[in-house]
Amino acid sequence: VIKVANLEKYYQKRHVLHEINFSIHEGEVVTLLGPSGSGKSTLIRCLNGLEPYQKGDVIFNGEKVVPTEKNWQQIRQKIGMVFQSYDLFPNLTVLENILLGPVKVQHQSREEAKVNAERLLAQVGLQDYENVYPRQLSGGQKQRIAIVRALALKPELMLFDEVTASLDPEMVRGVLNIISNLAQDSNMTMIVVTHEMNFAQQIADRVLFLEDGHILEQTKGDQFFKQPQTDRAKAFLESMD
Ligand code: ATP
Ligand code: MG
Repeated sequence: VIKVANLEKYYQKRHVLHEINFSIHEGEVVTLLGPSGSGKSTLIRCLNGLEPYQKGDVIFNGEKVVPTEKNWQQIRQKIGMVFQSYDLFPNLTVLENILLGPVKVQHQSREEAKVNAERLLAQVGLQDYENVYPRQLSGGQKQRIAIVRALALKPELMLFDEVTASLDPEMVRGVLNIISNLAQDSNMTMIVVTHEMNFAQQIADRVLFLEDGHILEQTKGDQFFKQPQTDRAKAFLESMD
């Protein structure tokens, strides 16, 4: 689905991603772990054309991802992204928020898009909320809507960047369960950045461990958590307990 080859990224003079190489195949769930500032969000944003990079390639379904206006419009329909802040449109109902992309951007019929939106809302337990406004929702509910909104575009790859980081603890589980279900039942290909280690262990087919912009490990999920290869990863896991 996506392949990254010799990716290098600078912010001005600051070299934040070094020689990043990996590929992800269909249905695979990869968790991207690493300390704060290691470059996780930057890498995720390079993958979906939000962030320019200076060297190397990001190839999505055989096409190079470049952050130009035109390319980005196409990519964002195929690569769904959900991050820490759920920027729903406050003046639109839940349903209108969800239908915006499918109807306006993808030109799906409103009826078809609505059926799909309602099915997705039911999947996340929010079928009774389609006519409410974002301000009437809890943080966890907003985040579930943000996930539905991304899924409504029928993406081939989903990127999640610390989607529970700004939620109250009691909201976290519900959102994580949705992502787990997506991995298991829908076989969605995804890259998940998270600080929730139990969750990461539960869903990861593979772990990419990033530190200071380098991929230090690329290991099968169960192996990473039981037997990290590097001392850095070991120390990281211990710090997360
Ligand atoms: P966290 O776990 O805290 O979210 P992260 O792994 O996502 O961290 P990034 O946000 O990707 O880390 O940041 C990687 C490095 O790039 C950091 O040193 C950060 O200070 C720097 N950086 C991030 N965004 C920018 C920017 N827009 N301009 C300049 N430097 C940036
Ligand atoms: Mg980040």
